[in-house]
Amino acid sequence: VSAADAEVLGCNAASDGYHVVVPAGAHEFSAQLADAGYEPIPVDLSELRKAGGAAKCCTLELRADAAKPPCGRSEATVRTQRSHGRRSEGAIRTDGAAREPYTRERVMTRLDARPTTPAEMESQHAAHNYKPLPVTIAEGSGAWVTDESGTRYLDLLAAYSALNFGHGHPRLLRVAREQLDRLTLTSRAFSNDQTGPFCRELAELCEKDAVLPMNTGAEAVETAIKAARRWGYQVKGVPVDGAEIIVMSDNFHGRTTTIVGFSSDPDSRAGFGPFTPGFRMVPFGDVDALRSAITERTVGVLLEPIQGEAGVIVPPAGYLAAVRALCDDFNVLMIADEIQSGLGRTGTTFACDLEGVRPDLYVLGKALGGGIMPLSAVVGDWDVLGVFTPGSHGSTFGGNPLACAVGREVLAMLRTGEYQDRAARLGARLEPQLRALVGKGLADVRIRGLWAGLDLAPGMASGRAVCEGLLAERILAKDAHESTIRIAPPLVIDEHDLDWAVDRLAHVLAR
Ligand code: PLP
Repeated sequence: VSAADAEVLGCNAASDGYHVVVPAGAHEFSAQLADAGYEPIPVDLSELRKAGGAAKCCTLELRADAAKPPCGRSEATVRTQRSHGRRSEGAIRTDGAAREPYTRERVMTRLDARPTTPAEMESQHAAHNYKPLPVTIAEGSGAWVTDESGTRYLDLLAAYSALNFGHGHPRLLRVAREQLDRLTLTSRAFSNDQTGPFCRELAELCEKDAVLPMNTGAEAVETAIKAARRWGYQVKGVPVDGAEIIVMSDNFHGRTTTIVGFSSDPDSRAGFGPFTPGFRMVPFGDVDALRSAITERTVGVLLEPIQGEAGVIVPPAGYLAAVRALCDDFNVLMIADEIQSGLGRTGTTFACDLEGVRPDLYVLGKALGGGIMPLSAVVGDWDVLGVFTPGSHGSTFGGNPLACAVGREVLAMLRTGEYQDRAARLGARLEPQLRALVGKGLADVRIRGLWAGLDLAPGMASGRAVCEGLLAERILAKDAHESTIRIAPPLVIDEHDLDWAVDRLAHVLAR
């Protein structure tokens, strides 16, 4: 069976030899059974599954006479099945009546007709490119969310830092509602009264000249790549189509084909080639390797100042400053992807600030849209962003007035410094508590501001299993690459809630 069907314990089915009682979420398996001539009976077993059970756990076997064919099948049926291997025609019933063949279409129609939970609908009808924990969130406020049944959970993921300001921050909601009533989208064929002010205010926050607004993080990374290449040809004088960009091992910059093409993660890449040329990879944190990789064709060094998806990997002290110096020496653009690390998370506005470094291009996203709208941007000076001319780049929704209005409020909140300070203060409170767990289930802790990567000790349960344990304790967290738990709560989290979460984590690790 497929991995998704195995996940819902699809194999743990029960059959009388013709009917197969199977968990409702195991659609592909149900269809396979129908193709093979069996009659799947999908049953909603989601409640039972919480205890680790499926259809087979609900059965009580009757073994009156092991020599008899299983109930519901006549000797004739058994013979038919044995001789044909599978039944593609109407099944033979013990009562002798032929029945309509059970086709894949009939099963899917039947599955569609069944009342299912939202999570089961997601499993049935959303592509399986995610593997969500078994919780269905219906509401959120601050650092807390509530599921369909009213159970509250503390959110320690904050949508991968997109919710730095928490769920439904009143300032952001107010602005969003007001803007919804006024104007949502113009496209940039026309100006609107939000895009310009947003760009100016973001450029000021970054102490740069200009902004190119987009929507998702991956789009902003693509934009930075295009900017660096054009800059390479027009300003640096690299021969046409010869530009190279240096990237880091274990990077994560998004999911477009160009971006996954320079990923070192096989799960991200496999099956999606051929990939865009023009990228070179060096080990993250290795200054000498970076220096050796730079050539006269190098136009940019693209890096996350702290690698989030890789498990909150912090480079050696002085690394970012050394990258800056190399980029200056060799006339190469330093491109900092601060999509996850930026906007307050590390206790500073940008993670680069931790080393007093200013990149040539900031790539921003996630929290920029306040957890309400997708809003991303590339921010730089005119000598770089000036390479874009009308028609050379764009996006229908990029810089839309709704996202920009929310983004302007995000910038106003960041200008106070309150959220950066809070991240630093709560991080300082969290750090000793987490370090106390090293040797008690944790092997290592990396933390900057309110952002931590916790490596599980060898022999511990998988990261997924620990997150499931935390879920049972009403805490939402996400593993990174199986053996690391990532902690990135909304910056508005209450300090006592944070203490409680660490206490619960200690409890889960001690099991
Ligand atoms: N860059 C970094 C550092 C990220 O963490 C992410 C997302 O996790 C992205 C880029 C891609 O952002 P998006 O998912 O909005 O495309």
